[in-house]
Amino acid sequence: MNRHRVLNPANEQVVSVVKETTAHEVDAAVRRAAKAQQSWAATAPADRARLLLRFAAAVDENIEELARLEVLEAGHPIGNARWEAGNVRDLLDYAAGGAERLTGLQIPVPAGIDVTFHEPMGVIGVIAPWNFPMPIAAWGAAPALAAGNAVLLKPAEMTPLTAIRLAQIGREAGLPEGLFQTLPGSGRITGTALVGHPGVAKIVFTGSTQVGKHIMAACAQQLKRVTLELGGKNPNIVFADADIEAAAAAAPMSFLDNSGQDCCARSLILVQRSVHDRFLELLAPAVESVVVGDPADEKTQMGPLISAAHLETVRAYLEGDTRAAIEGSAPDGPGFWFRPTVLVGLDADAPLVREEIFGPVAVVLPFEDESDAVRLANSSRYGLSGSVWTRDVGRALRVARGVRAGNLSVNSHSSVRYWTPFGGFKESGLGRELGPDALLAFTETKNVFISTEG
Ligand code: NAD
Repeated sequence: MNRHRVLNPANEQVVSVVKETTAHEVDAAVRRAAKAQQSWAATAPADRARLLLRFAAAVDENIEELARLEVLEAGHPIGNARWEAGNVRDLLDYAAGGAERLTGLQIPVPAGIDVTFHEPMGVIGVIAPWNFPMPIAAWGAAPALAAGNAVLLKPAEMTPLTAIRLAQIGREAGLPEGLFQTLPGSGRITGTALVGHPGVAKIVFTGSTQVGKHIMAACAQQLKRVTLELGGKNPNIVFADADIEAAAAAAPMSFLDNSGQDCCARSLILVQRSVHDRFLELLAPAVESVVVGDPADEKTQMGPLISAAHLETVRAYLEGDTRAAIEGSAPDGPGFWFRPTVLVGLDADAPLVREEIFGPVAVVLPFEDESDAVRLANSSRYGLSGSVWTRDVGRALRVARGVRAGNLSVNSHSSVRYWTPFGGFKESGLGRELGPDALLAFTETKNVFISTEG
């Protein structure tokens, strides 16, 4: 029987040991979920909504416990972790309201009436990464449940604890047995069994582009539905006419939040050449003053990386002649710490410029004019998010429309709100989550014609 050790990334202590869900156990879980789903889909939408609101209220009562678990297993600063647990509550609240609003169409036809229904798909597999274990689990689970589906959640090996606790809280709040289950385990065993199971109607996967492609190919065998939220290398475009002080003040946490382990991290900072040096002068003290340290401390802004292996991956990008132009601080001693790092003077085709580092590392590149900025932003294989800093509203809109990415922000780095759509262009993903249409991604449209003749 395989077991996974959960380590505290801030001090390398073992927090817990979690048993892997075998393929046989995945099969049993799918059967339980399928049974629960049938009566759940037949439950009146208002009653489904009521139960999800109770689930949301129970999450709210347990925010501190969930947040402390996230600090322990993922090393997130406590303030961020509380926000993440609150985000689960908000997603459940928002999705609950959708259960009664899944209205179809009535389409004019001769000799009868024609109506459409949004039918639940059945059992949904949600495969979550380690970087935002709680919110990403809920992005999939909350709307899927509200639309009348059962959910099997497979958390990442390194961060199963909040997911296990969320399924318990769901049961305590009154969700039917089997409707929302957490299946901890590796991608290779538990994930593969879930993706390949014929009783699972859809996979919602968030993780690396490489694994996402593999999952899409595996789903194709059964024409299983799939939503993919994958990697990103996101531009932060600063024009000379922007409020440069505000842009420089906001830039550090746009790539240091969650230690840069964020698919939306603005780690490619493109600055118009005429203000490039001024921007760097302002950026240096802003990066150096970011508080890196004990995630349990209320003042901490950035914690450690998730694991020793990931620390090595990030370090490897900076081997050789690469010199940091700006460097922040990090604790010594145990834990997977990496200093906030800013690099300048790199070629546009350097791996640090093109690849997702998924660590607290940003690259600053100069650009000449608007078209040069858009060209550099679009040279990536990814297209998840991006920011535009300018005082010219026309330019802001032109550039936001010109960048081939799913989530743009102007004079801000905000990407994710549970009530606005989120997802990627190009190799950043397929489909959209969140927003007003979130429930529709967990339904099949059915058309019914009723004859009025005879
Ligand atoms: P990962 O791809 O290694 O793993 C993600 C999940 O997939 C884990 O639960 C893992 O166990 C599982 N998995 C791995 N192989 C599998 C397989 N063969 N079959 C089924 N499941 C399998 O990714 P990660 O390192 O945990 O997460 C980091 C990546 O996630 C980054 O690339 C980041 O950009 C991306 N991400 C994207 C978004 C988004 O919304 N677009 C959000 C957060 C993270």
